Amino acid sequence: MIYSKLKKIAKENDWYLSNSSVFGLYRDYYFQMNDGHGFKQISIYLLNTDYEKQDSIRKAILQSKKELKISAVLLGGNILAIRYKEIFLSTSKEVLKRGLDFLSDVLKSHSVSPMNTCFQCEKSGDLKYFYNTANELTKMLCQHCIEREENDRYQNEKLEEYKEKNYIRGILGSLLFTAIGVIAWVAIAVYLHRLTAFGALLLGLLSFNGYKYFKGTLNKLAKLSLFVIIIFSIILANYISIGFEIYLKDNEILIEDIIYNLFHNDNILPILIENISISLLLSILPFYYINKYFNKNMGLSKWVLAKSAKT
Ligand SMILES: [Zn+2]
Repeated sequence: MIYSKLKKIAKENDWYLSNSSVFGLYRDYYFQMNDGHGFKQISIYLLNTDYEKQDSIRKAILQSKKELKISAVLLGGNILAIRYKEIFLSTSKEVLKRGLDFLSDVLKSHSVSPMNTCFQCEKSGDLKYFYNTANELTKMLCQHCIEREENDRYQNEKLEEYKEKNYIRGILGSLLFTAIGVIAWVAIAVYLHRLTAFGALLLGLLSFNGYKYFKGTLNKLAKLSLFVIIIFSIILANYISIGFEIYLKDNEILIEDIIYNLFHNDNILPILIENISISLLLSILPFYYINKYFNKNMGLSKWVLAKSAKT
């Protein structure tokens, strides 16, 4: 959500909007403003400036920190940002504008060349604005670079289609590995009489590695599918191992009677519930790991054409 003050500034300067920030040219320099949790921020991209100059700009801002009502100056990754802390009141439009004026003056006095050209090839002309859906980054591109990006995007879409096929392959791989895990679980429970709740960790590990081994695509659907596979296989492994024990005590028993006992025998039910609960509790560990792995490796970032603040 963009706060109305920022939208007003964007409108006045013919800027552009993303979901969380406003950006565009101000006195030929490229600025971006956004609303954070408890602060407002103005950022500038210093793409063609060496670190020494960036640091000298930072120091110049720090000298006027008080009169500009700035609370922090941040510098990193060719981006310099000034922050206005907001505790009770939001920063006034005048203070923000004074910040913009001051920053553009400092850039000029440090002879930073205007940033009114394409971010990629530095050509001027018909430029369009883009923002990234995964982070706060924005950029300005010329027609030529846009076409090149469009082409890349087309290639990526082709790649996505290809990846969808890989999802099914990954799930089959995961099911295969998990089935092996269930068999191992039952064998350990029935023949070695070991505490089997730890099998939850094994199943988690196997279903995840099966998916990875068969090169499944890393997306949200796959992550959810793995969770379902793990939960289902844990419940299944518990039922089968108890069912097997019933069979070992009475070799004559019919399979229907085993199933009936599993669901209706008051002596067996509490054991099953206890075992399943412990295993599910332990499965939090593989869930945590899988979730972390997927979030880190899922590519959600996408560059989107930004809307003009005037529309
Ligand atoms: Zn370009």
